[in-house]
Amino acid sequence: MKNVKHIFFDLDHTLWDFEKNSTEAILELFHQHELHNHIESFDLFIADYQRINIEHWDKYNRGEIDKRTVRYGRFYELFAKYQLPDHIAFAEQFADQYILISPHKPHLFPGTHEVLQYLKPKYKLHLITNGFKEVLEIKISGTNLKPYFDLILSAEEVGVNKPNPLVFKTALEKTSALPHESLMVGDSYEADILGAKKAGMATLHFNPKREPKKPDTNEIFTLGELLHLL
Ligand SMILES: [Mg+2]
Repeated sequence: MKNVKHIFFDLDHTLWDFEKNSTEAILELFHQHELHNHIESFDLFIADYQRINIEHWDKYNRGEIDKRTVRYGRFYELFAKYQLPDHIAFAEQFADQYILISPHKPHLFPGTHEVLQYLKPKYKLHLITNGFKEVLEIKISGTNLKPYFDLILSAEEVGVNKPNPLVFKTALEKTSALPHESLMVGDSYEADILGAKKAGMATLHFNPKREPKKPDTNEIFTLGELLHLL
């Protein structure tokens, strides 16, 4: 990777530990609403949420559903499964409370600050996210990530989501980065890796769950590996 001058990071599930943060937020709401009266196992409940959430985000990234459907639809589906009384109204209330709590959660993947501190003097660092613009600011301010990045681009500003190459081309234009000098690091093979490849960038697939290796990209299991690779 000797040509690399610009590194573009994804945020959710790559630097910001979405699963850990959302689990904490949902556990708080679970207690607040005394959901243990209706739902036997929090572990199964949260596993269902994480799965349903990923399915919604995949559809959103492909442009199949809108923002409102991600925000509320994931909870409609979750509470329908658990047959909560009046589940539509409850899901909406829960979704609104969740979006107020979750972005303030502080957990990052191990090594995030150490790695960014190491990379900052050597490369130009940027962030490209499909996450919602109004929660992006809260997430990066609350975790002190903001100072590392020259460009912080929400795909919402572009009007299409990763993997649409327009998101990556816009990021390259805004940073005056050339594709062959640019590396994308992200957890989503579809959104981050395939999209960046179409824009001519090098890629590193962040694969902390050690799922089977995807074709045509290098991968890392931990962020700490970047200390040796870059
Ligand atoms: Mg991600």
